[in-house]
Amino acid sequence: MIPSVLPTYNRAPLTFVKGEGSWLIEADGRRFLDMGAGIAVNALGHAHPALVKALSDQAQALWHTSNLYHIPQQQALADKLVDATFADTVFFTNSGTESCELAVKMVRKHFHAAGQPERVNIITFEGSFHGRSSAGIAAAGSEKMTAGFGPLLPGFTHLPWNDHDAVVAAITDEAAAILIEPIQGEGGIRPLPDHCLKGLRDLCDEHGILLVLDEVQCGMGRTGRLFAHEWAGIEPDIMMVAKGIGGGFPLGAVLATEHAAAAMTAGSHGSTYGGNPLGCAVGCAVMDHVADPAFLAQVNRTSGMLRQGLEGLIATHPDVFEGVSGTGLMLGLKCKALNTDVLSAAYDAQLILVPAANNVIRLLPPLNLSAEDVAEALSRLDKAAQNVVSA
Ligand SMILES: *Cc1c(COP(=O)(O)O)cnc(C)c1O
Repeated sequence: MIPSVLPTYNRAPLTFVKGEGSWLIEADGRRFLDMGAGIAVNALGHAHPALVKALSDQAQALWHTSNLYHIPQQQALADKLVDATFADTVFFTNSGTESCELAVKMVRKHFHAAGQPERVNIITFEGSFHGRSSAGIAAAGSEKMTAGFGPLLPGFTHLPWNDHDAVVAAITDEAAAILIEPIQGEGGIRPLPDHCLKGLRDLCDEHGILLVLDEVQCGMGRTGRLFAHEWAGIEPDIMMVAKGIGGGFPLGAVLATEHAAAAMTAGSHGSTYGGNPLGCAVGCAVMDHVADPAFLAQVNRTSGMLRQGLEGLIATHPDVFEGVSGTGLMLGLKCKALNTDVLSAAYDAQLILVPAANNVIRLLPPLNLSAEDVAEALSRLDKAAQNVVSA
């Protein structure tokens, strides 16, 4: 008999009932160190006082009005994002996949309005993840995500990761945009080298097409910059954001330049909940913390500690771990043992990690975790690795 919750997830036998900072408390009272942060979502950890206050103050005042009216919290968050980034304008969604939907629509509308309606094709990359909507799975294109869901939304060209010549060859008269994660998350923490991202920007400029970045996972301070593309010194035309921006409240956004977004006029897109007062009140509080240069400097220091510790663990457990990848607090441990075995050994050590493709284990902790949390995570990972070897 089918379970009452549609069984699309293989869930770990864990039930968390409370969170405090970098810690999750299981129904049986055990405390787990959370190095997954709900897949890079709880940017400020669990139950951060400023976020709890923002949400509860707003909950007392007003939950929902729809976008038929002005929403001051939405305006405030849009202003903060525009001030802090390349963007001139922002549309709020409730998730990464909804941000993907709008990014794709915006690209098409842009070229339609520019008198080039034949430009509908978006170049995407193997191993990428852009959400589970029809556009999201068509964009990523993997067999695993698309099997059985055809006919798929047309207009995507899938290229190998990191193959500049393939991109050059794929820019035909129908090309509209390049869509890429600066660091693939689900794909196994695969960073695109800065010079490659620069190269894509140059190609887009040369051919008059748009660069769309999916920073749903790598954005919002995760890499030690507010957005990952800042490391490469380039700016996109359109950017998808979600996960960390709500700190755990469902919130997403599409950021764009005026040039890219100008065709999105009244009536061209909408969302009942997108940009609601609750989400945007929390989003403002998240931005106030994460966009602070001192906060980002701390992310980079913490990253240095964690990374150094991970290199040590790789040296101590060469049969279990192979290498570390990623930037800031978006780190991947390539495993020699099965990553799922490492994951369950970590659960036994009361440590939460997140698996990814290519036999990688992701570390995506709260961005404000302490030095003690880092030391504790490394010691629990060491213990987990010992148990993987002896298993
Ligand atoms: C998680 C993720 C998405 C989808 O976000 P949802 O909120 O799950 O819809 C899209 N792109 C990337 C890079 C992601 O990591």
